Amino acid sequence: MPKTLTIQDFFKMFPDNDACLEHLFQLRYGAEFPCPKCGVIGTFRKLAKHPAYTCNCGHHVHPMQNTMFRDSHTPLTKWFYAIYLFTTTRHGVPAKELQRQLGVSYPTAFRMAHLIRKHMGFTDGDPSLGGHCEADETFIGGRQHTGRPGRGTNKMVVFGMLERGGDVMTRVVPDVSRASLLPHIQRNIEKGSTISTDQWLVYDKLPELGYEHGAVDHSREEWVRGPHHTNSLEGFWSMLKRSIRGTHVHVSRKYLANYCREFEFRYNLRHSPQMMFQRLVENF
Ligand SMILES: [Zn+2]
Repeated sequence: MPKTLTIQDFFKMFPDNDACLEHLFQLRYGAEFPCPKCGVIGTFRKLAKHPAYTCNCGHHVHPMQNTMFRDSHTPLTKWFYAIYLFTTTRHGVPAKELQRQLGVSYPTAFRMAHLIRKHMGFTDGDPSLGGHCEADETFIGGRQHTGRPGRGTNKMVVFGMLERGGDVMTRVVPDVSRASLLPHIQRNIEKGSTISTDQWLVYDKLPELGYEHGAVDHSREEWVRGPHHTNSLEGFWSMLKRSIRGTHVHVSRKYLANYCREFEFRYNLRHSPQMMFQRLVENF
């Protein structure tokens, strides 16, 4: 098992902008890359004044193209270090902290943080779930409110699906209606799987959709019924909420999905956290 990347390892790998750019170049084109224009292999070299590589024939390639660094004036070293910071904390990195550590403005730090969260979601992907799964909704932000929020409350709803012993997947949804929840299950959980939920009525429809369904009645303080419980997902919710509360004062609806993506990525790599950085810098 590879060891955790220390800060010394990090700076040895990415000492300057050219090293970061070279990493992107190797990742995207590699040493055996034939020039798209003249067809000659292995002739590309870094241009002195631009973040680009050139072939002897004069053809340029831009390793930052189509990455989150594309339109950024922030040096690549700062980006890579920010990614490193995200992989060395359990509870996420507030923009304020990035601002301080990188010496960039708050809006820049904020934008970087959200692009990195999106990148975590992209890297994590959306594997399909199966076997024994749990599904549950939770409410984030807004004023305290008991029960299911209806119209007029400002709580946001996140829907979660989790394969026991496997991955978690979340979606920010408009409400807890059948139409808002069940299509996500149909899209992401294999038919024939077993799904444990709480007593919320919309889940009663699951057997008709081809799933084994079992519910526990939280309103009657029933937490486990045979193999059925939603404890794994409850554990994920409490980590997500604790982290959001601890790290971020306020989370707007616009950005909630990014926070969820970040914590999905963390959860899904929970057995090999030392792989987080590597996975992130290998997926551009
Ligand atoms: Zn060429």
